[in-house]
Amino acid sequence: MEGRDQTPRRTVDLPIYMDHHATTPVDPRVMAAMLPFFTEIFGNAASVTHVFGWRAEAAVETARREVATAIGAEPREIVFTSGATESDNLAIKGVVAACADKGNHIVISAIEHRAVLDCARRLEREGFRVTYLPVDWGGLVDPVDVRRAITDQTILISIMTANNEIGTVQPIRAIGQIAREQGVVFHTDAAQAHGRIPINVEDDNVDLLSISAHKIYGPKGVGALYVRQRRPRIRLVPLIDGGGHERGLRSGTLPVPLIVGLGLALEIASSEMTAESQRLAALRDRLMHRIMENLEDVKVNGALSPRLPNNLNLSFAGIDGEAVLMGVKDDVALSSGSACTSAEVEPSHVLKAIGVPDGLARGSIRFGLGRSNTIEEIDYVAERIVATVTNLRRLTPHRPRIATAGP
Ligand SMILES: *Cc1c(COP(=O)(O)O)cnc(C)c1O
Repeated sequence: MEGRDQTPRRTVDLPIYMDHHATTPVDPRVMAAMLPFFTEIFGNAASVTHVFGWRAEAAVETARREVATAIGAEPREIVFTSGATESDNLAIKGVVAACADKGNHIVISAIEHRAVLDCARRLEREGFRVTYLPVDWGGLVDPVDVRRAITDQTILISIMTANNEIGTVQPIRAIGQIAREQGVVFHTDAAQAHGRIPINVEDDNVDLLSISAHKIYGPKGVGALYVRQRRPRIRLVPLIDGGGHERGLRSGTLPVPLIVGLGLALEIASSEMTAESQRLAALRDRLMHRIMENLEDVKVNGALSPRLPNNLNLSFAGIDGEAVLMGVKDDVALSSGSACTSAEVEPSHVLKAIGVPDGLARGSIRFGLGRSNTIEEIDYVAERIVATVTNLRRLTPHRPRIATAGP
């Protein structure tokens, strides 16, 4: 009968989404702001002869101010792109082409996103020299290593702000300082960081910074590149030629609705950052404790601090992360340490770089928390993970253990 239950408990709606490093849903406020720009306000922002174009252009410039404000930049330093992948490509290939007379060496970290790694690999094939900086067990680049890697041929350093698998946050301010002193351009892929942790391109000594809307509750298919215009002015060769949009750096008719969405999404994420990151960190810690108190041989991958508030990456000894994901797939959306390399069962280059043995790397799971997640969902996910891992381990009784010593 209704009302008889003495311990009412909010139930959870299944499936639970906990893969917010992959993408996020569009915020309803962002969606509402975008909609008129598909229909009534449909003008081409480059049309200067009528009000349809002016209104589109005004909306684009509002978004440009919102993006600039969120990272401490000026509006004229923001170039709209199709996403962080394109921004990374424009930053790296654009600088290398513009500085070809100065040198042929670039420095990146071993744990960059594929968008940066694959640019570097292509440049290597074209004859450039690339240094892949190692990271420590926690997943952090040592600024001392950055300084040591710089030669008189170095033209670019590209180190991500926060990692998309283990959430660790790099010392970009110190790295940027070194780059500035040595006269080398500094790019950072901030796709996981903007809107989640404070970023200021002035304080952090950043010359180029990649942004993606769909990681912060904006639409897919739009992003931005911050390009420093003063002290010093960064020169770039564009990847795309055409109508000369975006000060010649990115030709192509601007996707006005998406740009409007990016601007508002970043503004909302910035204004809600303090409260939301505290909430997510508390949920993340609860998830970690609930799992680790009820299971043996679980290891956190990557340093717990400095780390994104919404990231947890765990390895479960003796089992396959993919098997856990299959076990919970109807209830919980998560990803494993090998998801990024798609079809291959190769453990991720990030887990390899922090020294996780192959077996443990295959047993890794990434939890990406976000706005929709509640405390009830956290407890549900913890319970499901504990039950699934326990079951899988029963099938493989002679599993390897995690040594208690070590970091
Ligand atoms: C998601 C992501 C990208 C790619 O961004 P898109 O906008 O999807 O192209 C690049 N770098 C990092 C760190 C990411 O998390």
